[in-house]
Amino acid sequence: MYFAPLPWHTAWLAKARALTSEHHHAWLVVGRTGDGVAHAASALAASLLCHQPKESVACGQCPSCRWLAGDVHPDFKKLAPDLGDGETVKLPTIKVDAVREALDFMQLSAAGEQGRVLLVDPATALPRESANALLKALEEPPANTRWLLVAAQPERLLPTIRSRALKIAVPGPTPVEALAWLRAQGAGSPETLLQQSRGEPLSALAASQSESGSAREEFVRDLLRPGQLPTLKWGAWVEAGPKAERRERFAALLRALLDWTSDWARVRTQLPPRVFVTERAGLSSLGPGLPLSEALRYHRALLRKLNLPDTTLSARLQFESLLLDYRALFSR
Ligand SMILES: [Zn+2]
Repeated sequence: MYFAPLPWHTAWLAKARALTSEHHHAWLVVGRTGDGVAHAASALAASLLCHQPKESVACGQCPSCRWLAGDVHPDFKKLAPDLGDGETVKLPTIKVDAVREALDFMQLSAAGEQGRVLLVDPATALPRESANALLKALEEPPANTRWLLVAAQPERLLPTIRSRALKIAVPGPTPVEALAWLRAQGAGSPETLLQQSRGEPLSALAASQSESGSAREEFVRDLLRPGQLPTLKWGAWVEAGPKAERRERFAALLRALLDWTSDWARVRTQLPPRVFVTERAGLSSLGPGLPLSEALRYHRALLRKLNLPDTTLSARLQFESLLLDYRALFSR
């Protein structure tokens, strides 16, 4: 549970606190994951429950803040996906039983005058059955309750959920704010990290701390030679290491491949690459016979795979199959 907002969320928090404490019950907190949208929603929940917030920031000292820190707050509930063992690439979801339990909790009268807060992070992890259960409660929310639904991709939510919650957009940092924060975290070469992470500081920090960051460079070198792309090597890399890291490895390489194909399309249409800025020459000589429309179709297939990975095939097989397609397309 985060109490203090990230530096670029300070002004937002004051505005969001004023809005959510006075008006509507249900809020869709929308922003990029790597800019810290979940962090912002958590700071907002803590602020709404705090007995003595200072300039809208939860104090960290009052009984409410101490209960939150100890995960025993009588008026707060967080719904998050069941992570399981992380072994499969299946995206973790919020089970319907957990939703029902949270709804029962929200029906109880609040112990404190700040009311009850339910944080759903992320709401896109609600499968249809869970979303429908939540929807019924959103139609008639109990008095003195606040519902905060975090969504990086609100378009993936049921339209009925979107229409019952008011959208509150969380801003990202300016490049200067992002750099300053990354430096303060002690990350090496923050400029490069940010560039490779679409300017998202939390993603950049995560990349600097994981093995995927260093594998990424080697992966890109291999992508530059599509004809010799070692598909088996990268399939094996996804499944190497602890089982719990499999989903993360799969997603990290898939994101790199998405950025790569997106930059390829930019270079093909005479735009500078956005992520792989130093690879402009390599990108422009890649796949000379590949039509843009086919590359974009491949890009969309990658995106679908990231959002909805196949739950019946292993991570390794799915990744190898994507790379085989890459090899066939980009060596034209
Ligand atoms: Zn407090």
